[in-house]
Amino acid sequence: MINPADESVVAFAPECSREELDAAVAAARAAAPAWAAVSFEQRQKLLLQMADVVDAHVVELGRLVTAEQGKTLAVATAEVAGLSYWLRETAALTLPEVVNEDSAERLSVTRRVPLGVVAAITPWNYPMGQLSFKLGPALLAGNTVVVKPSAFTPLSTLRLGELLRDLLPAGVVNVVSGSGGLGSWLSGHPGIDKVSFTGSTQTGRAVMAGAAPTLTRITLELGGNDPAIVLPDVDVPGMAEKLFWAAFSNTGQICLAAKRIYIHADIYEELTQALAAYAATVRIGDPRQEGTQLGPISNRRQYETVLDLVEDCRRQGYTFLTGGTPEPGPGFFVPVTLVDNPPEESRIVREEQFGPVLPLLRFDDVDDVVARANAGEYALGASVWSADPDAALAVARRLDAGTVWVNEIMHLTPQVAFGGRKQSGIGVESGHDGLIEFTEAQTITVRHHTAATA
Ligand code: NAD
Repeated sequence: MINPADESVVAFAPECSREELDAAVAAARAAAPAWAAVSFEQRQKLLLQMADVVDAHVVELGRLVTAEQGKTLAVATAEVAGLSYWLRETAALTLPEVVNEDSAERLSVTRRVPLGVVAAITPWNYPMGQLSFKLGPALLAGNTVVVKPSAFTPLSTLRLGELLRDLLPAGVVNVVSGSGGLGSWLSGHPGIDKVSFTGSTQTGRAVMAGAAPTLTRITLELGGNDPAIVLPDVDVPGMAEKLFWAAFSNTGQICLAAKRIYIHADIYEELTQALAAYAATVRIGDPRQEGTQLGPISNRRQYETVLDLVEDCRRQGYTFLTGGTPEPGPGFFVPVTLVDNPPEESRIVREEQFGPVLPLLRFDDVDDVVARANAGEYALGASVWSADPDAALAVARRLDAGTVWVNEIMHLTPQVAFGGRKQSGIGVESGHDGLIEFTEAQTITVRHHTAATA
C-alpha cells in the first residue's frame, strides 16, 4: 500500500489466491444456514456489539484510513464513526412479515428470507463508509458476507475483519484482499448469491455480465456526474463556502459530490470570484498534519485520470479561475482547479472527474439548465440552491437523479434509501428498501382444513 501523501510504502497486504477465495466463500457458505437461523433480535444485538467494537477502535481505524486513502485524520475518524452509527441505526430496522390474506379459507404471508452469501465489493474513496451501507444490512437480513475492499485501500477493512473475528461466529464475515482478477473471481463465483457492488460504471457492467450465467442478484452503486443548480436569489458570500465543500470534500472523491455547477448569469461573475477567493484560503497538504483541510488524490491511477482531464482543459484553451498546475511530488497532489464556463460537451463537463477539478457553468434560463443537468449517462444525485425553497423544489422535481437535495447536499441517513438511475446504478442501499435488497420474498399460504374445497 502506498501512502498517497508521500508515496511511501505503508504496508503489504495479502494477495488472495483463487484457492484462498474458494476457502473464504466455502467458509461463508458453511456458516450461512446457522446464521440465517439466528433470531432477528439476536442479529440486531450483534450489530450493536459490532458498533461497540468499531467505536473502541475508531482512532486506530481512522489512522489506517488516512494512511491508505489520504483523507485528513478528522474526516477519516468521522468516516469510521459513521460505520458504527450505521450499524446501530441499521439494527433498528425490521423485516415484518406481510399478511396478504387471513380469511376462513386461507392464511397467506409474505416474509423476507436471506439470500445466502453476499459479496460486498467496495471502492477506495470511503473504505469504511461504503462498507457501512452493506455490512450491517447484509448480516441483519441473515446473510453471511465475503468483503473485498479496493486493492488501493484494504488495510482498514482487513483490520475490521480481525476485530470482528471474536464477536461473530466463524465464517459469517470474511475479508479477502488482492488486486488483479480477485474482484471478478469473487463476483462471478458460483458460491455467491448476491453481489453488492460500489465502484465505477465500467466495472459495474462487468459485474452484471459476470452475474448473468448464475442469475446472481446484484446491487450496483456506480459513478455520478452530479449537477448543482444555483438560482439567482442566493446569498453569494455564504454560497461560495457551501458550494466549495459540496464539490471538494474528500478532495472531490465522492460519488455524490457536485461535479458541475450551473450558476445563473446574474450572479455568475460574483459567485465564481467568491469561489476562487474561498479556494485560496483552503489548506491542502499532508492529511496527517493538523490544519490540513484537503489531502492528496488517493492513488496514482486516479491522480493520472484527474491530471489528464486538467491537461485536456489546458489543451482546449479553457480558462482556469484558480489551479490548473499540478504540484510537484512526492504525493498525488492536485490543486483545487476551477474551470470557467467550458462548453457543455467538453470532457470536464461530461465525464466524472472524481477529483478537485470543477467546471463552473453559466445559465440564463431554467428550462435550458434542467435539460443540461439531465443530459448525460449518469443520474446519481443533484442539488438546487435558492433563497426560495418552493422555487428550488419546482426545479428539483424536474431533475433526473436518484436523490435531489435542496439547499444541502450529500445528506444520507441509515433510514433513507439512496441509489442511482440510468448508468449510475441498479437498486438502492440503506433504509428499509436497502435492507430488503439483501433478501428475497417468500410467500407461504396455508389452506385451512375447515374451508370448503374449491
Ligand atoms: P472501481 O470500479 O475501479 O473498483 C471498485 C471495486 O471493484 C474495487 O474493489 C475493485 O477492486 C473491484 N473490481 C475491479 N474490477 C472488478 C471486476 N471485474 N469485478 C468485480 N469487482 C471488480 O472503482 P473505484 O475507482 O474503486 O471507485 C471510484 C468509482 O466508484 C467512481 O466511479 C465513483 O463514482 C464510484 N462510487 C460510487 C458510489 C455510489 O454510491 N454510487 C460511491 C462511491 C464510489
